Amino acid sequence: MKKYLYSREYKKTNTIIDIKGTKIGGKKIIVIAGPCTVDNISYILETAKGIKDSGARFLRGGAFKPRTSPYSFQGLGEKGLQILAKARKETNLPVVSEVMDTKDVKLVEKYVDIIQIGARNMQNFSLLKTVGKIKKPVLLKRGLSATLKEFLMSAEYIMKEGNKNIILCERGIRTFVEYTRNTLDLSIIPVLKKETHLPVIVDPSHATGRKDLIISMSKAAIAAGADGLMIEVHPNPKKAISDKDQTLNLTQFKELMKEIKPVAEAIGRNL
Ligand code: PEP
Ligand code: MN
Repeated sequence: MKKYLYSREYKKTNTIIDIKGTKIGGKKIIVIAGPCTVDNISYILETAKGIKDSGARFLRGGAFKPRTSPYSFQGLGEKGLQILAKARKETNLPVVSEVMDTKDVKLVEKYVDIIQIGARNMQNFSLLKTVGKIKKPVLLKRGLSATLKEFLMSAEYIMKEGNKNIILCERGIRTFVEYTRNTLDLSIIPVLKKETHLPVIVDPSHATGRKDLIISMSKAAIAAGADGLMIEVHPNPKKAISDKDQTLNLTQFKELMKEIKPVAEAIGRNL
């Protein structure tokens, strides 16, 4: 039988991705936070400083946005990446941002520390092959209706091209349930940890679509073995360009960091 590059048969020990000294997949739970969409420098700086004070390790923000409607704001593009780079310079927080098109991979790679492949592009095979050839780590989000096998095979596409630094992200799947935006598939966390040596993180923001559920689902994700979280945060969520309803403000984010700490410690990990 073929030993897939992602598998525990191929590599027994956990892959730990070291980004300027911050290790993803090790003992520490890594939290990535920031707005859905990069809007302006003052909000991004305020976010970066606030999340850093509370213990986040990475700043996130979309400059190329996969919006459901073509009439919705599509992102600031390179200007958005420049804003993120400025915030990184001021705060020393590494940044994560999404790439949607093969033609933009080089550009996004130049500005970010981790390149994100969004749920809608999980099976965009030419995009996967292209990011497989770059040096920066890839945060691969699970597709809206992707099976475990499909998710892992998308990671395999990237790894086959040479890039072995992949972070898998569970972000909720489509079900019949209507009280949340998606359904957080918590059980995929231990299953992924068994099947693959790659780090696994959880995005409770897109999984629930509801800010009142973010803290409890973050705790559950950590208890289930996730290596990190990705949380949408904005200093004034009402003014956020996208995903207002699932976006925490800086005070709520601070509370989240306080609440997840004892859960991490209970399972022998820390923040
Ligand atoms: C995002 O993280 O910015 C995003 C668009 O999420 P997803 O691809 O999971 O919908
Ligand atoms: Mn979003």
